[in-house]
Amino acid sequence: MRYAETRPPVFTLTAGPVDAYPEVLRALGRTVLYDYDPAFQAFYESVALKAQKAMGTDTPPLILQGEPVLALEGAAASLIAKEDVVLNLASGVYGKGFGYWAARYAKKVEEIEVPYDSAIDPEKVRAFLKEHPEVRVVCVCNHDTPSGTLNDIEAIGAIVAEAGALMIVDAVSSWGGMPTSPAASQAGIYVTGPNKCLGCPPALSLVAVSDAAWDKIEANPDAPFASMLSYSDWKNAWKKTEPFPFTPSVAEINGLDAALDRYLEEGPEAVWARHALTAKVCREGIKAMGVQLWPVTEDIASPTTTSVRMPDGIDAGPILAEARARYGISMSAGRAETLGKLIRIGHMGPTAQPAYALLAVAALGGALRAAGAEVDVAAGLAAAQAAWDAAIDG
Ligand SMILES: *Cc1c(COP(=O)(O)O)cnc(C)c1O
Repeated sequence: MRYAETRPPVFTLTAGPVDAYPEVLRALGRTVLYDYDPAFQAFYESVALKAQKAMGTDTPPLILQGEPVLALEGAAASLIAKEDVVLNLASGVYGKGFGYWAARYAKKVEEIEVPYDSAIDPEKVRAFLKEHPEVRVVCVCNHDTPSGTLNDIEAIGAIVAEAGALMIVDAVSSWGGMPTSPAASQAGIYVTGPNKCLGCPPALSLVAVSDAAWDKIEANPDAPFASMLSYSDWKNAWKKTEPFPFTPSVAEINGLDAALDRYLEEGPEAVWARHALTAKVCREGIKAMGVQLWPVTEDIASPTTTSVRMPDGIDAGPILAEARARYGISMSAGRAETLGKLIRIGHMGPTAQPAYALLAVAALGGALRAAGAEVDVAAGLAAAQAAWDAAIDG
């Protein structure tokens, strides 16, 4: 028996969009209030304050009404002025892609690029900024999802701050699943969204903007206003006494409310530990099967995604299709430069559970074996379970 493509998979273990938490799905079905009803205005403020608590910011983060690509493009449009020289850090498809937005608004974009299985060396950033004191904005992706690799945004952020520049961080698929925050990275703009580790459907962006970044945005005559891309439009919209620039996505705010409640009730540290353990169990399984991880070293592998390098001569596409057809398990392909070369298993939100890591090892191993690859699925499963048991038993 095989699973038809036209039927939903049994398990979605992708690197985003992810399966949503049941309480989020229930909240999406709450009554859709009129946005200017006082009950909704007070509720919106309470959700913004919960987001502030979760992100550890001094003021509520912006909630933009579109999935995080909107906030990323908006960051480039708002912060980068015509006369600015920008340094873009590219260690993957998202980091590289941000440079194209930056180029639309900047005078000049410089770039440090490394192979997409590697991370940016903060010391290279330090040396570059020393040689190029004219750089005003530095852009970096924390977890470049199509590679499953991390950049050290705390170290890079400290260097950027010391150089007097502002950093734009894409933390879409890291925040909420590991210890990262706007404050710890000293980011000017820190973009994330509820559709990865918070376990919501894709629809909203969450953005922390520092005081220095607001000053620069407000001094930028070309920063968008009365626009879907605008940051300024939404700056004060969280206050129940202030108007919305346009209608917020009421149902999605209901979902975000439930996701934030869940995150704060479980406790961020417990949530991060759950993501880290799932990644650990998964990686021990993959390695013991005799398959390599994609990142050059495991210390840059994200706890929210395990990225698996395909054995020589094997394309990822048919393996993914086979895993879905055999076992009903959906995982992610690479993107652009990483397409075909790797398979990604997401550990985000509800699927950040070690039990899912065992399923992923079984599905990936079984599909590789069916394609004739030399993999020891039993050894992989045993190692994954041993890693899980070791964490349980201490
Ligand atoms: C998911 C994600 C985004 C949002 O982009 P989509 O391609 O629309 O999903 C942005 N940045 C990163 C790093 C992401 O993982």
